[in-house]
Amino acid sequence: MKALIRSALAELAATAGVLRYAERSLRNTLTVLCYHRVLPEEQRKAYHDPDLVVTPEVFRAHCRLLAERYTVERLDVALSKWQSGDRPARPLAAITFDDGYRDNFRYAAPILNEFGLRGTFYVIAGLVDSEELPWYDTMGAAWRMLATADEPTAKQVLAEAKGLSPQERAAWVERLRSRAGELPIVDDDHIMTSAQVRALADAGHEIGSHTMTHPLLPQCDDATLAIEIARSRRILADLCGREIVGLCYPNGDSDDRVHREVVAAGYGYATSMQPGTNEPPTFDKLRVRRWFINQDRLAARDGSASDALLRMELSGVSQRLFARKRAA
Ligand SMILES: [Zn+2]
Repeated sequence: MKALIRSALAELAATAGVLRYAERSLRNTLTVLCYHRVLPEEQRKAYHDPDLVVTPEVFRAHCRLLAERYTVERLDVALSKWQSGDRPARPLAAITFDDGYRDNFRYAAPILNEFGLRGTFYVIAGLVDSEELPWYDTMGAAWRMLATADEPTAKQVLAEAKGLSPQERAAWVERLRSRAGELPIVDDDHIMTSAQVRALADAGHEIGSHTMTHPLLPQCDDATLAIEIARSRRILADLCGREIVGLCYPNGDSDDRVHREVVAAGYGYATSMQPGTNEPPTFDKLRVRRWFINQDRLAARDGSASDALLRMELSGVSQRLFARKRAA
């Protein structure tokens, strides 16, 4: 029902010129989109959190719209243009991916190439070339195997797990893993290989850090924080042969101590999960705002990607119409 209202409103807004009016005010702003995984529908359905996945068809539709209406740059380039006062006729936008899954290399990068776009990939540095999954995926896959229908979903359990201490969480994930036995994992589920990360960098995409192990940074002690933030930057820089400028906070979580470490480690910016466009008076380079892209919320009534809904999302009209909780 809510989806129906949303798509009807989007069509109305598009026809009534509300969108065009809202989009005119984007001229002075920097828009950043946040994706995670790009997978065919079958694999999307099988994943423990389909909200984190868009299909290649949807991603292609988004790229087409972005290429038409925005000046798309990798985020480090977009930020330096934007901060130096560059205001192209079409507003600046950047496409970012969290975690660095192999599906990004397989599905997302070729689609970006089709449109001549360059993106930003935040990689969990400690899992490059590893067959180990990020902790939340081990948990999600194990939970899906073990849970019965009346138990909470993997997504609900994951939200609970984030409240545990790092040690409690690691022990709990390990217990789930051993109870579940062999997990149904395919190649796309792993973090990229070093050859894939290097190939993306060589093709002109930005590689950023998403820490070593994807912890919740405010929970880390000082020594761990330095390893997660500074060492991941060095490892990725050595791997790509390029300076790493951007960091993406796991789960979007940061605090003053984390910000100080980010600056000390030499990063130029860091991204949050705070939704919204970046505007000069409130802009914070250590908490760059991003729109979390949810395929279902941006779908037309027939399930395909709706241009009007994406435009409504990126122009901030949806945020004003449907006061929404922060994306996790
Ligand atoms: Zn992440």
